Amino acid sequence: MGTINHANQIIKKLKSEGHEAYIVGGAVRDHLLGLKPVDFDLTTSAKPNQVMKLFESRATGFKYGTITVLMDQFTYEVTTYRTDGPSEDQRHPDYVFFGTSVEEDVLRRDFTINGMLMDEHGEITDYVSGQDDLKQKTIKTIGEPYLRFSEDALRILRAIYFQGKLNFSIEDETYEAMKKMAGLLTTLSNERLIVELSKIIKTDYQLKAIDTLHTLNLHHHIKGIEETIDVIVKKKKSITPETFFTVAYYFDEKNMSQWTFSNKLKHKFHTAGQLSKENVKLSAQHLFDYGLEIVKLAARTQAYLFDTSYAMNKLEYMYEHLPIKSAVDLKMKSTEMMALTHKKAGAWIKDVQDDMVKKILSHELKNERTELFLYFRETYVKGLKHE
Ligand code: ATP
Ligand code: MG
Repeated sequence: MGTINHANQIIKKLKSEGHEAYIVGGAVRDHLLGLKPVDFDLTTSAKPNQVMKLFESRATGFKYGTITVLMDQFTYEVTTYRTDGPSEDQRHPDYVFFGTSVEEDVLRRDFTINGMLMDEHGEITDYVSGQDDLKQKTIKTIGEPYLRFSEDALRILRAIYFQGKLNFSIEDETYEAMKKMAGLLTTLSNERLIVELSKIIKTDYQLKAIDTLHTLNLHHHIKGIEETIDVIVKKKKSITPETFFTVAYYFDEKNMSQWTFSNKLKHKFHTAGQLSKENVKLSAQHLFDYGLEIVKLAARTQAYLFDTSYAMNKLEYMYEHLPIKSAVDLKMKSTEMMALTHKKAGAWIKDVQDDMVKKILSHELKNERTELFLYFRETYVKGLKHE
């Protein structure tokens, strides 16, 4: 988040010190489209240490020339003009050269609509015909698309993302290159893939973007999501990132379990995926075992997959009114169970608790002391005598 006022202040300050500076990239594009830019990237002839001297800042990407400037509570990425060296991992260039001209800096950027510069008076400098492509609503690489995609395969997915965000079409040569170079997607790190796919799914024209991804067969080069993409295209029904990844777990747990989600998210997608099977009727027991969030996600995923309706408020009500929410809330303590049976602590206690909880959840028992003691004596103490 940021404001154009701040961005202009940064430009003025850099200029007053004899440097060049412009707003560049998505902010210029969005500004010209009449959309409110979210983030402001600036490009400057000043070297990173010179930028740092002039502003309150953090050296977030010093090696790549990026300094994050702080203004009020907002941050602005200020990057020194650069050209990128080759990239071993198609991720970060192995090294960058600080460039001497802003034109060089523009030429390393991905698409023409992301390559325009704007000064503090709103004056546009455009070396790549970005304005024409913006008018034509076209996504086109800066320079030779095959070369640009081989430098960084993420750009293939970025083209899809901008299509989803802006509802633009992809220029023919760029489109052909995306199709032919699809195999390069296997070189992307899973972290980058997760971020970019999530961005695509969150766009306004998600279905259009996913349709292109499908038509270009990109999904065959992203292990784990093939069937999910097929299903979305078939259903023509929009999806959220969480439901997307749960559906993917549902179809292809084996490949999805290799993805680098946090353990918490893995557990969530895995469990919700398991619960999403058509014949699973989501119950009080599920709410008790996995919590409201996971069960709601499962309900949404079931609804997506089987076109059933779901009543979120019913699940919420059910959760609110669970007769017990955790085994520690049982009105009979494990020490009491041990005393009554003269047995030592062990796995049997958990079994008894699970049994009691199950009966409480199905309203066969009340979570009340006398009732639990009676039930315990009846079921477990008497049984012991016959052992
Ligand atoms: P968004 O609205 O999603 O923020 P953006 O165009 O600002 O879109 P960012 O990912 O914020 O995209 O990147 C800022 C700018 O940096 C881009 O506009 C583009 O000029 C350049 N850029 C970003 N990623 C790449 C890349 N992988 N290859 C080349 N240039 C890139
Ligand atoms: Mg941006």
